Amino acid sequence: MALRILVAEDEARLAAQLAKALEDGGYAVDCAADGEQADFLVHTERYDLIVLDLGLPKVDGLTLLRNWRGSGIAVPVLILTARGSWHEKVQGIDGGADDYVAKPFRMEELLARVRALLRRASGFAQPELRCGEVVMDPATARVLVRGEPVRLTSHEFRVLLYLMHRQGKVVSRTELSEHIYAQDADRDSNTVEVFIGRLRRKLGVPVIETLRGLGYRLCCDR
Ligand code: CA
Repeated sequence: MALRILVAEDEARLAAQLAKALEDGGYAVDCAADGEQADFLVHTERYDLIVLDLGLPKVDGLTLLRNWRGSGIAVPVLILTARGSWHEKVQGIDGGADDYVAKPFRMEELLARVRALLRRASGFAQPELRCGEVVMDPATARVLVRGEPVRLTSHEFRVLLYLMHRQGKVVSRTELSEHIYAQDADRDSNTVEVFIGRLRRKLGVPVIETLRGLGYRLCCDR
């Protein structure tokens, strides 16, 4: 999913492991090491999912979560809870979390939960994302067109993933570049056009529409 994830975790080593695993999974990732920074980023950037440690310095995760939900921020949130702390899970879910993983956890489990939350957020019940003859499996990063595998670069994959999650909707170049690059990357909406061009050639089926002055739309019902 060409989607952006915020990792709010103060344990530097775990945060780095999470960021690496999520980036390898094709997501753009930003990290926040305390509650204030996480709150700032959530109010200034657009995320598709937040991985939130409840035990954060400055402002704790549960307070953040309640504030976000209270102010109408509906981004899916996966909380990280301390081992064996059942009351944290209950409070977290009551506070508006969509799912939780208890520490210590296997990275594979966290990634599977992230994929499931993102799928649900965009209305897919199946693990595969489909658009006409294009089938995409975010778990294995495989893309098939008419059953034949297509090799995409990580940026092309991110673009397609984002469009898949917004199929039928108009996505502007700016929105696309915001969701495929991490916060500190040099965002250039002109390169989006290049990725789209390559993606169209590689897919070979006319699923990506250009809407002059507006952006792109993935059309799957033809
Ligand atoms: Ca912590």
